[in-house]
Amino acid sequence: MSGGKTISLEFFPPREEAARDKLAQAARELVARRPAYVSVTYGAGGSTRSGTADTVELMQSLGMDTAPHLSCIGSSRAELLEILDGYRAQGIRRIVALRGDLPSGMGRYPGEVHYANELVSLIREHSGDWFHIEVAAYPEVHPQAAGAAKDLDHFVGKVEAGANGAITQYFFNADSYFDFVDRVRARGVDIPIVPGIMPITNHKQLARFSKMCGAEIPRWLEWRLMDFGEDRASLRAFGADFVADLSQRLLDQGAPGLHFYTLNNAEATLAVWDKLNVG
Ligand code: FAD
Repeated sequence: MSGGKTISLEFFPPREEAARDKLAQAARELVARRPAYVSVTYGAGGSTRSGTADTVELMQSLGMDTAPHLSCIGSSRAELLEILDGYRAQGIRRIVALRGDLPSGMGRYPGEVHYANELVSLIREHSGDWFHIEVAAYPEVHPQAAGAAKDLDHFVGKVEAGANGAITQYFFNADSYFDFVDRVRARGVDIPIVPGIMPITNHKQLARFSKMCGAEIPRWLEWRLMDFGEDRASLRAFGADFVADLSQRLLDQGAPGLHFYTLNNAEATLAVWDKLNVG
């Protein structure tokens, strides 16, 4: 962290032994760079409950201020409160509060808390101001939203329920972020809105993620990435330059920090981070 701009990092709980070793190695490398905090994702319906807990413990053992994600869809209130109490007992002071998406095959039990604003309210009712709460923001509009205006209303609802900050879905068009921030500020919301940054290392994987989460890959960028074909090294070098330029522009024009989706890969995040002037 420097110059008042925060760099935070997101990790996900690994499923297999080899992936656990890779995560531990990546976490050690990245934590040495002193991010402001790290966050750990959580599968809706509790699908990664023990994996998230193990990964949170790993991050805490490395001395990191750790923010577990908590998604409410598919869980009962009792289960959510039990998780919150567990985090409080562990000294966790930060949570990323989400609705989540139920993984396929988990049935259709919607749970008792249906949207992220309800989760934020539940956390505030149950735990007061113990947790600093981050919520998700969508500069390019959430894919299931009824419209951009409705989505903005729902975002504002999460802030009114007690969110302290927001992290955006990743995007490759800086104007979508600035437009979103302007519209949020016009509603009187002044919490920090930190851009989520996705390093580009693998075209097919990026295209798949982007389709799922509603992030647009601009047409010219898609063509450039396609041209690299199997030449992964050149794609990674181009991707690091592109994402670093985007990140620098965001910081220079007022973003309060950056939140890297590390995908448990230190090299991809550092390839961007090392090019930035965050001072
Ligand atoms: P919400 O804010 O509840 O919004 C979901 C949709 O419902 C939107 O279309 C919104 O407009 C609409 N809506 C909201 N409130 C209402 C209401 N009261 N009435 C009617 N409609 C409403 N997913 C995971 O499963 N685990 C994770 O760890 C995880 N981490 C993430 C981290 C970040 C930074 C981001 C940006 C996303 C993350 N996601 C994660 C994905 C996220 O869970 C999905 O995008 C999910 O579809 C929406 O979650 P949300 O918290 O934004 O939902």
